[in-house]
Amino acid sequence: MPAIRARRLFDGRELLGERVVHVEDGRIAAVADRGVADLDLGDVTLLPGLIDCHVHLVFDAGVDPVAGLAGATDEELLDRMRDAAAATLAAGVTTVRDLGDRNFLALRLARKLSVTEGPEILAAGPPITTTKGHCWFLGGEADGVDGVRAAVRERARRGTHVVKMMVTGGEMTPGTHSHLRQYGLAELRAAVEEAHAHGLPIAAHAHAGAGIADALAAGFDTIEHCSFLTEDSAEPDPAIIARLAASDVIVSVTAGMVPSDQPPPPGIARRIPGILQSLRALYAAGVPFVIGSDAGIGPIKPHGVLPHGPAMLVGLGYAPLDTLRAVTSQAARACRVADRKGSIMAGFDADLLAVEGDPLADVTALLRPVAVFRMGRRVR
Ligand SMILES: [Zn+2]
Repeated sequence: MPAIRARRLFDGRELLGERVVHVEDGRIAAVADRGVADLDLGDVTLLPGLIDCHVHLVFDAGVDPVAGLAGATDEELLDRMRDAAAATLAAGVTTVRDLGDRNFLALRLARKLSVTEGPEILAAGPPITTTKGHCWFLGGEADGVDGVRAAVRERARRGTHVVKMMVTGGEMTPGTHSHLRQYGLAELRAAVEEAHAHGLPIAAHAHAGAGIADALAAGFDTIEHCSFLTEDSAEPDPAIIARLAASDVIVSVTAGMVPSDQPPPPGIARRIPGILQSLRALYAAGVPFVIGSDAGIGPIKPHGVLPHGPAMLVGLGYAPLDTLRAVTSQAARACRVADRKGSIMAGFDADLLAVEGDPLADVTALLRPVAVFRMGRRVR
């Protein structure tokens, strides 16, 4: 039985000392504090493979990913998505939640990829949006209570792992506005009810404070971005944040970008101080959070960018331990795979990442992967 030794082990919750992890048939068979190892990785920390709660494999991380999509056939997109999946896995991200594709391509990819070719993909299919609403070009337009119910049922029938709904507008789609709502509460409630009736979690894309409040009232399972954007800035609303903290919802904060000397788009640039204030306020209130990179949506967000996320949040005052939980055990909970992913425990999938040094002392250690295992197979 292959056994891997590491100087430190982060089991998804706590940092432990030296451990030997025994792997059998793709799963973790045992975790021992001593014993013989077939592979000694030396001065590394072994972690559960990282989980990115928000990616778009279909976007090419170019300057205009929407145009890149428009000109491509589904087969061409699938080829690109294969590369995106490979880059993601090489970075140590062994599970992704794909929150928006075209024609359910991420679901098709999930069924095609072998375990060594990419992360496990949990796919939403095209996000449900209003006619000409945010990301309408992905094909998920649905209006009215009956329309959104039918859209959720279609996703359940196709076998998606999650439903994604655009509660507010977004920056990527001209004619929509991040600081405004797209749906009424009746449609949101109908979508949540229909998703839950089919056993599916449902994620809300919500930037505006009013949209965040609606998503919370409607019973969404995760709220993506949760940035409290206004027309010109972002203003965290303490009353809504207190309600978030007291609820079961998990906020998926958007973090992780590669360093760039390109200025952000003006719509974002003027709002950055407010967005950072929102991130600090959510953390200060103890709102449970995971990290979604939104990989694919632009040059600063190439596929596999998630390991940059914890460092950004630590820079804002988040405790390193909380950010590590957010990309492992807490992420697994948000993605409904906490019974097999996000922890290093007997019986769990042997999705593992070894990084140089100690990520609690220096969270940028996540950017220095030494080894990556997917279902027990070494892929890096
Ligand atoms: Zn997104």
